[in-house]
Amino acid sequence: MRLAGKVAIISGAANGMGAATARIFAREGAKVVIADVMEHEGRAVADSIGANARFERLDVTNEENWAAVVASTVRHFGKLTVLVNNAGVSGSAEQDLYSTDAWHRIMGINATGVFLGLKYGIPAIAAAGGGSIINLSSIAGIIGSEGIHMAYNASKAAVRLMSKSVAVQHAKDGIRCNSVHPGIMPAMRTSGRTAEPAVRAARMNVIPMRRPGEVDEVANAILFLASDESSYITGSEIHVDGGAIAI
Ligand code: NAD
Repeated sequence: MRLAGKVAIISGAANGMGAATARIFAREGAKVVIADVMEHEGRAVADSIGANARFERLDVTNEENWAAVVASTVRHFGKLTVLVNNAGVSGSAEQDLYSTDAWHRIMGINATGVFLGLKYGIPAIAAAGGGSIINLSSIAGIIGSEGIHMAYNASKAAVRLMSKSVAVQHAKDGIRCNSVHPGIMPAMRTSGRTAEPAVRAARMNVIPMRRPGEVDEVANAILFLASDESSYITGSEIHVDGGAIAI
């Protein structure tokens, strides 16, 4: 099993790619904490996995929540060795692409939420002797996008560079940190325009593989980065996008 002995917190694991990652991690021998604001859905994911999974309520914008989730993970599973900062919201549902409120909300969840995960996760992983952090960015953290609030691009670009910063600053603690950049995937719960069939169909024309990705295709990249198979990879990024930004 590729993650035997690992203990992971996955934020936003009640749905989508986070839930897929939790299932694959557990299959590969990890103990997983499904951390999300959606309690009913998060508990259902944990229950479907069984004894090696726990649900914890986490709002990633809340510092006290992060402290509590990290502490309870160490209490129940003995340590923390993998952190997947996956929770996020889309920028494609805003009517006003220059809404200041939307800027603060999207940056708060997608960028500050990851910062807080790092702030509380890193000391626990260091105390365990090291581990791996995987942050979910997007191809929208590398290139611009039509029809979305620029806070999404800005927040995902922040995630990309926070990952490299952690890689540089915490290699000495045995911590690796990398970012994963999905392209066109099943729409997020919070997607607006980018979930419309006509918009998605048009976007397929600019993907060399001419299809959207599947959640397990992202989860498998996260699995590789969480496992010791990627032991010399840090500060790096994996694009899971069917070649979308290779053009
Ligand atoms: P999703 O909407 O299916 O799931 C996101 C999860 O995050 C949900 O379970 C939600 O409850 C949780 N969440 C939202 N706000 C939260 C908060 N404040 N605290 C804790 N949890 C919170 O999204 P997804 O498609 O699985 O996306 C996962 C990650 O991948 C996100 O960071 C997203 O930005 C990124 N991404 C998605 C796509 C895509 O097309 N789906 C593409 C590129 C990158």
